[in-house]
Amino acid sequence: MRIAQSISEVATSGLCIGCGLCEAVTGGRVRMELAEVGGLRPVPVDGFSVTEEKDILSACPGAIARPRVQTEAQFDDIWGAYSDMRYAWAADADVRHRGATGGVLTALGMHLLDSGQATFILHVRAKPDQPMRTEWVMSETADEVLAHAGSRYGPAAPLAGLKVALDRGEPFAIIAKPCDVAAVHAYAQVDPRVDALCVARMVMVCGGQSRIGKSRKLLSDFGVREDELSLFRYRGFGNPGLTTVQTKDGREFTTSYNDLWEDEGTWELETRCKLCPDALGEAADIAAADVWPGGGPTGEDEGFNGIILRSEAGEAIVKAAVAQGHLVVGDAITPEMFNDFQPHQVRKKHAVEARLSGMEAAGLPRINTEGLRLQALGENLSPDARQAQCDGVRQRVEAGRVKEPLPKPVD
Ligand SMILES: Cc1cc2nc3c(=O)[nH]c(=O)nc-3n(C[C@H](O)[C@H](O)[C@H](O)COP(=O)(O)OP(=O)(O)OC[C@H]3O[C@@H](n4cnc5c(N)ncnc54)[C@H](O)[C@@H]3O)c2cc1C
Ligand code: SF4
Ligand code: SF4
Repeated sequence: MRIAQSISEVATSGLCIGCGLCEAVTGGRVRMELAEVGGLRPVPVDGFSVTEEKDILSACPGAIARPRVQTEAQFDDIWGAYSDMRYAWAADADVRHRGATGGVLTALGMHLLDSGQATFILHVRAKPDQPMRTEWVMSETADEVLAHAGSRYGPAAPLAGLKVALDRGEPFAIIAKPCDVAAVHAYAQVDPRVDALCVARMVMVCGGQSRIGKSRKLLSDFGVREDELSLFRYRGFGNPGLTTVQTKDGREFTTSYNDLWEDEGTWELETRCKLCPDALGEAADIAAADVWPGGGPTGEDEGFNGIILRSEAGEAIVKAAVAQGHLVVGDAITPEMFNDFQPHQVRKKHAVEARLSGMEAAGLPRINTEGLRLQALGENLSPDARQAQCDGVRQRVEAGRVKEPLPKPVD
């Protein structure tokens, strides 16, 4: 197995997801910038000391995805180790309404602050002066957590804030994507403050991060320039809620979730997402997901999440959040039900090992996926289907659709 030997190799092989760890470890000397490809990338990519680069590579999502098996109470090949899976939603109707789905992640963040277990939540928000873009933020009050509810489907680098968070020396929680949180978990081997201070790691189950071109296309369809924007909301304010764009001069444009995501050819997903070994949060304490039967919404509802509890810490947080009136927990969900809610995740789990083989066949590095059962899951595909997945990636590489130029900033 060949893993990338440098950050430059990660980035040029299409394996950087732009998590932001590069910026954190270098204290901001290397910065996350929007690169030509339309994702956030570390710049300058040769700006690391030998130690920094080694430390980053030990945790970088482009090199490794490490599960954090804390509970073996129950186990499923697709969904990994978990102690419980349930419907859940924010107890407060406003939080539930504003959240991407049922407001569970926001409610848990608010609970951790209100109960004093965390001093702040490291997560992301729309940039106040460029609301189509996303930036990391440390929310210190429940109101701030609520203000930053909702899914941000474009480029987001929550880990760019990790060093600032750790340097505070205070207990905090993180809400981020599975790849981000897996990197946090792996980075704990380098910096023991991670395990000492990060009291809760919460993720959304994730279908993939779109490059900025996806959002730009929407603006162009609406005939709006980015500098005219006052609001860019992908979803939330309902489940799933309308994608909503507002301008400084008072115009509003909306589209439905189904219309936004109907054509997979327009998603502009990062390459790392197509190869994602763990989009289900196996390094997290708690994962929150959509629970639409069949995999997509058939209309609006009040907002129901499915939650996956993966650690004792996760169980305790949810129990306390229910007891203190922040969260409502409903019926049990089985892995088979989750397979129905997330058919795209099941398909990807079966295909990823073959896709990573395609990277190797094309001479590119792969990701270390030890502990994620991908070899065995790949056996669910027929030999022909495995070969097709492998060839598909190899052909994409040969057609120049995977490799990226050395990142340099664009507007
Ligand atoms: C890129 C992306 C892809 C997704 N794909 C799927 C999928 O395939 N299946 C599925 O079930 N659900 C998916 N979701 C998750 C879903 O949209 C909800 O986020 C999830 O159900 C949690 O809902 P909630 O109401 O608890 O979240 P909220 O209460 O609204 O909280 C969301 C929290 O996540 C943080 N956040 C939002 N976007 C990002 C980001 N890009 N990076 C880091 N942190 C972020 C916010 O700061 C906020 O704290 C995806 C979300 C994203 C961002
Ligand atoms: S994925 Fe994260 S750690 Fe890896 S190169 Fe990109 S920004 Fe750096
Ligand atoms: S699909 Fe995987 S790599 Fe892509 S954003 Fe989601 S967790 Fe990260």
